[in-house]
Amino acid sequence: MAEDCIFCKIANKEISADEVWRDQDVVAFRDINPMAPVHVLVIPVSHIASLDQLQDQSLAGKLILTASELARKLDIDDSGYRVVINTGPEAGQSVNHLHLHLLGGRSMSWPPG
Ligand code: 5GP
Repeated sequence: MAEDCIFCKIANKEISADEVWRDQDVVAFRDINPMAPVHVLVIPVSHIASLDQLQDQSLAGKLILTASELARKLDIDDSGYRVVINTGPEAGQSVNHLHLHLLGGRSMSWPPG
């Protein structure tokens, strides 16, 4: 766990979040400032600062498969959804704990801003 990491605190239940999934490796919870009707963040329990620091292939697969399973559970799989990993400041990463954004429930444009 990293000091002063808000997502570590959510993973360790030190602060609350609207959780939609939890197991020993992965936690998923609704974004506090949703950008779509469904906006969930999927994070590793262990502190990994960004995608750039992710080396565990098994964990990488688990994070992605959790996102697709949640898309089905939250009923956005038929209409379509987007999974985004902002990595680094130019890409808009504001929390330095790896997280996948799962977004759905509205139509989306491309390219992103
Ligand atoms: P980033 O900009 O790093 O890709 O995404 C960080 C996301 O975390 C943002 O969408 C922001 O709304 C969300 N976020 C930041 N702090 C909290 C929090 O304390 N609780 C929850 N649920 N989401 C948060």
